[in-house]
Amino acid sequence: MKQVADGVWQLNTFALPNLINAFLVEDVLIDAGTRHSPNKFPRHRYAKGLTPNAHPHAHPDHQGASHELCTKLERPFWVPEHDADAAENPELIRERQPSHPVARFYIRLFVGPGHRVDRVLHEGDEVAGFKVLDAPGHSAGHVVFWRESDRVLILGDVLANFDQLTLIPGLHEPKPYLTPDPAENRRSAKRLASLEPKLVLFGHGTPLRDTKKFVEFVDSLPA
Ligand SMILES: [Zn+2]
Repeated sequence: MKQVADGVWQLNTFALPNLINAFLVEDVLIDAGTRHSPNKFPRHRYAKGLTPNAHPHAHPDHQGASHELCTKLERPFWVPEHDADAAENPELIRERQPSHPVARFYIRLFVGPGHRVDRVLHEGDEVAGFKVLDAPGHSAGHVVFWRESDRVLILGDVLANFDQLTLIPGLHEPKPYLTPDPAENRRSAKRLASLEPKLVLFGHGTPLRDTKKFVEFVDSLPA
């Protein structure tokens, strides 16, 4: 666990750092990793103080541990409006992903049980000092968390900061075979680049403290 901004810690939920991240913001756990990740959390010295488990989106590498964590640690479960049905019924995650062998493999490997959603997140909601913004494309309901005061953006999977096949560092769009609507995801990225974040935190990859690099990468994407 590493502090990355005021009141924000990045947690590893996978074998190696920065591959599949979760974030602790005040007492809110944003994301939960895969179904193999729960043992990463109870050891966490802040675990007792945690309340909700909030998701940028309901994909297997971020929802896999949610049911176990929310049940064992008695946490409410907060999910964006348009991913809430998939968070309760992971069969819908399967249906909404492109039909591709990598997508099917990744679902089999990571997906966890569904869990009843306690709160649906909408654009403009406040979560631990961050504002919820809609950023659909990588999933129907994908949201990001934005804190204007110090320009911190928890980006989820709108972009990754390494190539998810080769693990080579650098900004990348999420793989199209794991993204139901790549064009809409790109429109979301362009909207977020216009915020000119000082710090971008990714579901996959190391934090980026280079506004220009982020904005230029997004500008270089096709419209
Ligand atoms: Zn992901």
